[in-house]
Amino acid sequence: MTDIPKIYGSMVFNEHTMRERLPSGTYKSLLKTLHDGEPLNEEVANVVARAMKEWAIEKGATHYTHWFQPLSGVTSEKHDSFLDPCEDGTAITSFSGKELIQGEPDASSFPNGGLRATFEARGYTAWDPTSYAFIKDEVLCIPTAFCSYNGDALDKKTPLLRSMAAIEEQAKRVLTLFGDVEQRVLSTMGAEQEFFLISERDYSAREDLVLCGRTLFGAAPCKGQELEEHDFGAIRPAVNTFMKELDDELWALGIPARTKHNEVAPAQHELAPIYTTTNRAVDENLLTMEKMRLLASHHGLACLLHEKPFEGINGSGKHNNWSLAAGSKNLLDPGDNPMDNLRFLVFLTCIIEAVDEYQELLRMSVASAGNDRRLGAHEAPPAIVSIFLGDELGALVDALVADREFESAQKGAMDLGVAVLPNFPKDNTDRNRTSPFAFTGNKFEFRMPGSNVNLSDCNMILNTAVAKSLKSFADALEGKEGEEFEAAAIDYIKKSLRAHQRIIFNGNGYSQEWQEEAARRGLANNVDTAEALPALVAPKAIALFEEFGILHEAEVRSRYDIKLEKYCKLLNIEARVMERMVHRTYLPAITRFASDMAGHAYRMAELAADTSFQREVVDRLADGIRRANVALKDLEDKHRHAESMPASQEKADWYAKQVCPAMDELRLAIDALEADTSRDYWPVPSYNNILFYA
Ligand code: ADP
Ligand code: MG
Repeated sequence: MTDIPKIYGSMVFNEHTMRERLPSGTYKSLLKTLHDGEPLNEEVANVVARAMKEWAIEKGATHYTHWFQPLSGVTSEKHDSFLDPCEDGTAITSFSGKELIQGEPDASSFPNGGLRATFEARGYTAWDPTSYAFIKDEVLCIPTAFCSYNGDALDKKTPLLRSMAAIEEQAKRVLTLFGDVEQRVLSTMGAEQEFFLISERDYSAREDLVLCGRTLFGAAPCKGQELEEHDFGAIRPAVNTFMKELDDELWALGIPARTKHNEVAPAQHELAPIYTTTNRAVDENLLTMEKMRLLASHHGLACLLHEKPFEGINGSGKHNNWSLAAGSKNLLDPGDNPMDNLRFLVFLTCIIEAVDEYQELLRMSVASAGNDRRLGAHEAPPAIVSIFLGDELGALVDALVADREFESAQKGAMDLGVAVLPNFPKDNTDRNRTSPFAFTGNKFEFRMPGSNVNLSDCNMILNTAVAKSLKSFADALEGKEGEEFEAAAIDYIKKSLRAHQRIIFNGNGYSQEWQEEAARRGLANNVDTAEALPALVAPKAIALFEEFGILHEAEVRSRYDIKLEKYCKLLNIEARVMERMVHRTYLPAITRFASDMAGHAYRMAELAADTSFQREVVDRLADGIRRANVALKDLEDKHRHAESMPASQEKADWYAKQVCPAMDELRLAIDALEADTSRDYWPVPSYNNILFYA
């Protein structure tokens, strides 16, 4: 059995290790950097680097790497050894402060969206000391930001860190109005990661899974998730040993993995850590995903992190639980006294305002070819952003909007005057699963992100948008005190809620009526990535990013270009794999079966046996093959056209509106043939086998 306290964080250069290993002066300067964001001088860095190296070598490390998140979203690392050869043929180990703080990877192969010409490949990485260094596979990994030579952000972490600074600054201004002087305000995040585990044997038998991470074909299984027996069900033994190894590895990396359970769909699972600051939570989530993928094979399993690996059953999401912490206070915790409640209401209002104002940016931040297949389908939120508040809070907001008394379910009528704000209880009872952005007692849960996404983007946008509304509040209220401040704050809240109440929706987000109602309310409904991405380069978005120094226009445009390109490339691969599989795998197998069946029919007819079954099957197969062939040709035409287009929004639109429907048509044609083809001839494992393994 694992001794949790002993292994937890054992591979992390955390504050405990720092205290143990660093001279107290160095430790104190480093803490100032960690906690107060003060810059680190080279002398301190040298001492830290030496201590870090010794610690790492004791733990078996031979190399170090600057670990960063280029715009492709996945993490990158280039390993350098600590080796330093001497003239006499021996070697020592070395690792300097400079090597700790800054690196210069050859950046030419990372996507940069035109920010940096490839001949000018220099980019550099800079240590983010607020996320601890750790050892992974005998390599000391130093979390870093990645910038071009002239300081343009080429990664996901830099803007996230900038957005954390922006929301901190504005939140502090607001807190000051409440008489709270806080040292730090940090955005916090906990990511619930969903994933599928299937047998490695089935995985490697399917080209679509190996190359695209999802099944491009496959008739619905005879049994789906309708018996509701998988969620929270007993965990399979192979899965159990996988989970144990995963927990041990994550704990050693100081990742507080806490909850694991089976999810709704067969073969689907979830892992949730305890929340932490947003930048660290994002790093930890990326590491968790990497470990999941790598460890699965130790147990004969393959881990699927795709947002929609299987049609017709649930996809996988990654719920982004988000809040703001001021010291040990959670600012989204409704307070126990009127002033705390007022503060809570101010923050709540600013979040509602931010989500309404920048709904399209939030939607954009989770857009990908994979998530397009998940959103709006089977127990996933729609592509429309809305906020769920729950009964009690919803009723309170209604009362504020209508300027009338608040009828609390528990406490009866309450006047929403100045100093008598209600002391409303948290209600966790009504857990609306259908909302994309739900208040869950003391945090918001953003449920649109897909399982495969890097959560930096959506948190960066959330932080920045909320910073903007906090700023408006502070600008309007600064200079007011006491009762005047309270009255003005309530007034502000009412006005803002009135202007933004359209974003609040407590009903069933999966329903068709909501699609219609949302359209009436003027909410955006960008159904696919091609529709969602332009929001990133809308003047309003660029103005927001520039106002808070998160990204300048060229950085925003480069991100848009990279996202467009990635979307088109992914669909290009999917279309290619489909065409290849139909040509080389499906149609030959089905034809062989049809032909054998026809042969049987002939021979049986010679004996004057009844061949109606065989004839019907051959007829249906022949007809199905014809239909598949038509669909294949149509896809090939549309795909060829897409390939001939230069990278552009039009190309993404073409993929979304022409290529995707053609892919769906081809899939339907092949899936329809699955039921008529003998399982002995069917060339790949089917959903029944994959999803219900022992
Ligand atoms: P659920 O019922 O949705 O599973 P949990 O209480 O298990 O809710 O929390 C889900 C996630 O939310 C966990 O990762 C948890 O650490 C995280 N979480 C809890 N409080 C906060 C907070 N204040 N800020 C950010 N994340 C939080
Ligand atoms: Mg949850």
